[in-house]
Amino acid sequence: MLLVGLSIFITALKLTFYNIYEIISLILRCKCDFELLGVNFCAMEEEKFSKQYNPNLVEDKIYSFWQQNNCFNQSQGEDRYTFSIIMPPPNVTGKLHMGHALDNTLQDILVRYKRMSGFNVLWVPGLDHAAISTEAKVCDMLKRKGISKSDLTREEFLKYAYDWKEKYGNIIINQVKKLGVSCNWEKLKFTMDDSCSSAVNKVFVTLYNEGYIYRGKRIVNYCPGCKTSLSDIEVTFKEQPGILWHLKYYLKDSQDEYLTVATTRPETLLGDVALAVHPDDKRYKNYIGKMVKVPLIDRLIPIIADNFVDMKYGTGVVKITPAHDINDFEVGLRHNLDSIVVISKEGLMLETAGKYKGLKVEDARGEILKDLVNGFYIEKSENISHNVGRCYRCGTLVEPLISEQWFVKTEKLANDAIDCVRNNGLRFLPKRFTKIYLNWLLNIKDWCISRQIWWGHRIPVYYCKDCGEAIVSEQTVNCCSKCSSDNVVQDEDTLDTWFSSGLWPFSVFNWPYESEDFVRFYPTSVLVTGYDIIFFWVARMVMLSLKFTKKVPFKDVLIHGLVRDKLGRKMSKSLGNGIDPIDIINDFGADALRFMLINGNTLGNDIRFSEEKLTASRNFINKLYNAARYIFLKADNISFEFKNFEPALKDLKPEDKWILSKLRSVVTEINLNLEKYEFGIALGKLYDFVWNVFCDWYIEFSKIRLNDASLSEESKVLTKQILVYILIIVLKLLHPFIPFVTEELWQVFTNGKFGPLMLNEFPRKIKIIDFIKETKLFDSIIEIIKAIRKRRTELNVPAGKILSSIFIDYYDSQLTKNEILLIKKLARVSNIETACKISSEKSKEMNVVVTSVAKIYINNEELFNKDEELIKLQKEIKKAEDNILKLEVQLNNKNFLEKAPAEVVRKIKDNKLVLESKIKKLKETKERLGN
Ligand SMILES: [Zn+2]
Ligand SMILES: [Zn+2]
Repeated sequence: MLLVGLSIFITALKLTFYNIYEIISLILRCKCDFELLGVNFCAMEEEKFSKQYNPNLVEDKIYSFWQQNNCFNQSQGEDRYTFSIIMPPPNVTGKLHMGHALDNTLQDILVRYKRMSGFNVLWVPGLDHAAISTEAKVCDMLKRKGISKSDLTREEFLKYAYDWKEKYGNIIINQVKKLGVSCNWEKLKFTMDDSCSSAVNKVFVTLYNEGYIYRGKRIVNYCPGCKTSLSDIEVTFKEQPGILWHLKYYLKDSQDEYLTVATTRPETLLGDVALAVHPDDKRYKNYIGKMVKVPLIDRLIPIIADNFVDMKYGTGVVKITPAHDINDFEVGLRHNLDSIVVISKEGLMLETAGKYKGLKVEDARGEILKDLVNGFYIEKSENISHNVGRCYRCGTLVEPLISEQWFVKTEKLANDAIDCVRNNGLRFLPKRFTKIYLNWLLNIKDWCISRQIWWGHRIPVYYCKDCGEAIVSEQTVNCCSKCSSDNVVQDEDTLDTWFSSGLWPFSVFNWPYESEDFVRFYPTSVLVTGYDIIFFWVARMVMLSLKFTKKVPFKDVLIHGLVRDKLGRKMSKSLGNGIDPIDIINDFGADALRFMLINGNTLGNDIRFSEEKLTASRNFINKLYNAARYIFLKADNISFEFKNFEPALKDLKPEDKWILSKLRSVVTEINLNLEKYEFGIALGKLYDFVWNVFCDWYIEFSKIRLNDASLSEESKVLTKQILVYILIIVLKLLHPFIPFVTEELWQVFTNGKFGPLMLNEFPRKIKIIDFIKETKLFDSIIEIIKAIRKRRTELNVPAGKILSSIFIDYYDSQLTKNEILLIKKLARVSNIETACKISSEKSKEMNVVVTSVAKIYINNEELFNKDEELIKLQKEIKKAEDNILKLEVQLNNKNFLEKAPAEVVRKIKDNKLVLESKIKKLKETKERLGN
């Protein structure tokens, strides 16, 4: 009933998505099992609070505390409000890097926020088997032991690989824990777990039976380094220098008439099956259909016309080598040409290469070029820069190769994945990343899913060696279904890693079984990932989820940027500029790292890592800790129910109303920001509130009040209560961002009576009303104090000096005794009078400080001793003038000017300008004083 009413209300008001969430969240209440008790503070417990915050002593302890209390698996709120995330599984090969740190921090913030907001949260962690990378690492490890992969059987090799996974998988999990992630560890999944593997088989067999999967002889990208085929997106293209050879192909029966073909790979001419020109190219119109001889071997090949030829590139004639070039392969299919394979998988010349057989490609190229030169086949050569494809895992030059591979037909799957974005079933944040996703899907090719390696999901296809039958089956096949022979072998290849990762959103829930979690938590709420794997991973998850669950696997995809080094470069092994998050955590604490990764950063943009930002983050955490320590020591022997804290309005002083109003708006804004995934903005606001509002002002106000002998004990207690109340709200608001320090402080403050902070309620709304008048008043008081402080600094008034009296002309109203006291203490003034007490004559001689609400008059003598000040100024002017003279000597020295680098001369001139403007300013000040 409530929901029906609510939905009408929402429709009527045409509220946005965020508002709906906001309202639902407000209705929700956290079901907290912990009793509501008053808290007693006791100054005797001072030893609980060490003077310095040391994250190393706290973070591991707190993480164990959460685990021991089963905090990550608490089923909190009502079941209809579920929030689920699947963790992008880190590779078992890897060590934690900054990308993981950012990705997991973002997820943890969301998960903690939702959990505290009363949602029933599930965050599934995982590990990826990372087929190619892991296989390469295991091979390296074996090589160091003197073992070659070819010495081992498949089973022996897999045993080594599983040992590897066991060892390194645990390392990365422990590293992820160090970040403070609050995922449901008991749900940990590995892409090669039994349940994930049966999902893989089920999907393969279904796609095969429905005609989506086929086997074909196709040209694929082959990495000789990893010894496997790669999909198109696993090849990265890089500009590099090369030589373009212009070769002569003589016409049949001619000694002098030839066509020139430019190529960067002369060794492939042995596999040429045609030359091609553009049908509209007038230069070659008459040649189409004629035959030419392949240089060196004189094999005859036809000249054909095809639109793919670029008339402007090279000579406008290209050689067609279908077995060793992906475009040529397509041309070959169109023109019914044969393919001649001349290079083996191992990168050696084959039988078909004639006298070059057995040579490595590079050696064969040398020999062939020598022969071409001797035979006068080379017209010219030129140095060029061209795009070369390399393996994205190991960097080896990719060889196009014809082989028998398994493919997924992607057109229909892609169309559905495109539609779901266009129909708003899925949205990318920031929006601009939708384009990357759509562009890839709109230009998608069939997906080569077979890999010639052992580590991974073996293709569930079996071949009968007797009758040749191929059997595609989810279960192991030992006996041929056609001829009953038991001479059956399984396909040797394994599946592309991304095939299993593509099922991750539902395979983690034990699909195809309708597990309880699958029913409750699928589809998931949000996916958090980097922009570099939008098509590798996100697009494939969407395609496969739509196909197999008929649902979009997540509502929102949050895309974050990369963490770059302080010069803005990508962190990489080859540059050696990678930063290990674990080192940072050891030095600064996980909270500081998380703070740095989020504060002020915009989702989707790259982040620059810097030590300064990290130090600033640590400083903030120390500031919070010190504020808490102060409050803890002051708030002895008070007892109150801070959950229902509602002080009587009559007891509140204007500064209390001011801080409570500020708190009220920060709570509302943080909730709105978090609903919109604006983590950086939210944290920035919290930083500002804690540091620039609470610590810099309210705590300072409180010190004055607690020391004021004229105030009643009740009034002081109220101040203490407000301090505690604000701190508690702040700890809750900050908890999703910096969970360790906030939990630690919460435990100290509540003495364990309210359970873990992470299971407490996130502040949604502050009950106290918005005191507009007092907020304005106090903002102006602060402005006055700041302005006086600024003038003191400008005039070098010693910090400890107390000004004897100032006069304030306050436009709005009269300042009360209380406000005057605060200004006196914080601006260091012993007496404040209204400005009407000074004559206009006298006011002209005084130092005036102007703010938006007041004019403050201070006797010049209070701020400085005129005579002393004049002498000081004169000295400074003299010093600057002397320096200018020195610079001029250099600038007038012809000899020096001729020899010195332009940079140095420019610097001297700049210095002179700086000094001149300094003198001008000093003289102005002097003049002002002289009057
Ligand atoms: Zn490779
Ligand atoms: Zn058979």
